[in-house]
Amino acid sequence: MIKTPYINPFSSDAKEIVSKLGQVESLDEPNPLLSNIVNHTRGQNLSDRRTLPETIKELAQARYEWFLFKKTIDSNEKKYEYLFNPDIYEYDVVAFYLLCQAIAIKYGPDSHETRLILDCEENIISQRLEILKSESNDFQSSILRKALNQLIDTNNIHWTDLKEIFDLGKLDINELLLSNGKVIIEYEDFIEEFGHLIHNRDPRTMYEVTAGVNIKSKLLLNLIRLNTKKYIETVHEMSERMVEPNPLLIELAEKIKEIQQEAQTMKYATTGNSQYIDDKPVSYELEAFPPCVRKCMQGIKSGGRNDAIVLFLTPFISYSRLCPSIFARQEQNMKISDVDPSLEITHNEIIPMIYEAAQACSPPLFKDQPQEKININSKLGFGMHSELKLDHEGETQWYTPMSCEKIKLHMPNLCTPNKDCKKIGNPITFYNRKRRLMKKDNQNKGQVDNNGD
Ligand code: SF4
Repeated sequence: MIKTPYINPFSSDAKEIVSKLGQVESLDEPNPLLSNIVNHTRGQNLSDRRTLPETIKELAQARYEWFLFKKTIDSNEKKYEYLFNPDIYEYDVVAFYLLCQAIAIKYGPDSHETRLILDCEENIISQRLEILKSESNDFQSSILRKALNQLIDTNNIHWTDLKEIFDLGKLDINELLLSNGKVIIEYEDFIEEFGHLIHNRDPRTMYEVTAGVNIKSKLLLNLIRLNTKKYIETVHEMSERMVEPNPLLIELAEKIKEIQQEAQTMKYATTGNSQYIDDKPVSYELEAFPPCVRKCMQGIKSGGRNDAIVLFLTPFISYSRLCPSIFARQEQNMKISDVDPSLEITHNEIIPMIYEAAQACSPPLFKDQPQEKININSKLGFGMHSELKLDHEGETQWYTPMSCEKIKLHMPNLCTPNKDCKKIGNPITFYNRKRRLMKKDNQNKGQVDNNGD
């Protein structure tokens, strides 16, 4: 039997569980009932006892580990099967609140850690819903209805009620079925509004295609994300008035940092990071920039300023500093905060360099087109906002550098190839190759000098 807190930590039953089991003193003590669930989860790998949580605090860490390591661990290892055992719901919900509190207190709502925890919760619930897909549509629909109605009245939603959800950038109004502004979520509303229009087709199938389980799941994930975000904001505000936070929360927050560092190291190890393949921030080597980038940085004097700065230069300047090996990486939809968690490099180096090139244009780009600053933020993955903030990250994608072919087609004036451009498909490949050659040259020179001595 699936209990609502298993897929909605903001349900009323979840809150009751927290007041029953959430006494801070007990969260770091071995809990035999939790261990029993973990040990009896079907398919759970029990060989490494150290990875099996015995306390709720360890369960909180395990949730975070599962999320951060899931791309790098072998799915056959079955180390975290217990997270997807519905029986764990009570301890899981307390672990969720514990994690949110630790992050709110130590890192605050605008931090990289908060974004990770929002993604972590979304991923856990989403995986649980995915597992539920083996059940019938009716069963899924009723479970989702119960979970959703703890947060919103699914028979009575006007699209304007979802403004905060749309602002998260993960659900688009065009995905929803509307009737006079009302969002159709439930089957009975679908039939009432559209039943008379359906002939010779199965209404249930029509409902599932246009709304159904898919939209219910998306809405639930977004509502949980929004509520988690608000919860972290509230805890953070309250913590500022606190004399001293509970040491257990601080300990957990520090452990979270360690897990992040471990995950980062593991990622580099598994992607085969080598001397020349940089998937982490590296200092600029301006001498290795290709001719097109150099030309653009001197400012565009003729037409095409906007595309040159926003579409061409912005991705190049950001990836060449933060992740020059982007095309060698398997990962898709990378985010800037994966490599620049505090956005320090982005604010202090990347943005100033792009703005300088924009200023060098004739006329200076932002003088008559200040809105292009928003477009630059958008191409860096931070949505259409005037301020570049972690909060908005993911609303748009971080654009990858444009290929030489596209540059030649759309901005032919920028491409003035030199001998190093031969067989190069992308300016960032030019940059990586040139850095490698320069490094080799320097090493050779060093050897000659040493021999000379
Ligand atoms: S060939 Fe490619 S790298 Fe070289 S100048 Fe043209 S666009 Fe730039």
